[in-house]
Amino acid sequence: MCDMLHMRRLASLLSDFVQRKPTRLPILVSGTAITLATVSASVTVALGLNHNGALFIATVIFISCAIAIPAGLVHYLREIEIAAHQEKLQALAATDALTGLMNRRTFERVAEKERIRMGRTGDAAALVLFDLDRFKSINDNYGHAAGDEVLKTVSRLASNVLRLPVDALARWGGEEFAILLTGVNLDQACKVTERLRTVIEEASFKTIAPGLSVSASFGVTSFTASSSLHSALSEADHALYDAKRHGRNRTVCTGAGGRKVIALARRV
Ligand code: GH3
Ligand code: MG
Ligand code: MG
Repeated sequence: MCDMLHMRRLASLLSDFVQRKPTRLPILVSGTAITLATVSASVTVALGLNHNGALFIATVIFISCAIAIPAGLVHYLREIEIAAHQEKLQALAATDALTGLMNRRTFERVAEKERIRMGRTGDAAALVLFDLDRFKSINDNYGHAAGDEVLKTVSRLASNVLRLPVDALARWGGEEFAILLTGVNLDQACKVTERLRTVIEEASFKTIAPGLSVSASFGVTSFTASSSLHSALSEADHALYDAKRHGRNRTVCTGAGGRKVIALARRV
């Protein structure tokens, strides 16, 4: 009974050991095969069943090594290849293909992790949603490819303004982006957001199309350990909607739970 329990624990330990790093499996299997061959050869000699002693044991070890080591190596290399492939697939699934930014699902995971961390540290954060203004007319006037280039350029500009990877930036979908600003109060978050808005407004897009200018509208809200991500996103979305309603190319900041506009900025 007790032995069974020990065996089960050993099996579960081994399974954990292998699952944490699958490349350990071929090493474990080859090592076990060589050890078993050595032990059984030694037992055979000890029982007097083979009189060639050392020579017999050496031969058994040599044969088992000759089989187990190349087989283990092939399996090991294959496991490394699979692990690299899986890593690539995971990175692709976490990223937006056009901009290279994290996608919505990854952002939600990062924000949830940050919320849990803030529960321990008491830090504050802010959520920002922003949307490019009249983007449809950019596509209509300059073509879809130019629109794609604008999305890439805006992603680069935002990445330069933010403190990545401390902050998080994601393509939320279409011409909309999400930002998680960590370690800031609402006032600081509004200032960072205003800086980004100005950077986009003043950036030159003439390499994409002569005369092209781009602006974006921003909704900002505070995000704390006690906020639900869903409600904070909904607050930021309302603020963004207000920014659009008030004429676009502006930032609307709102405190958690309230609809108070703290900053409204600039012209279209
Ligand atoms: P608003 O200021 O109210 O946000 O107006 P808008 O024109 O930006 O908003 P609307 O929702 O009417 O249009 C969004 C456009 O974004 C329409 C859609 O074709 C375009 N779009 C979405 N994703 C992509 C993309 O990946 N590439 C390009 N080029 N366009 C995209
Ligand atoms: Mg838009
Ligand atoms: Mg939109």
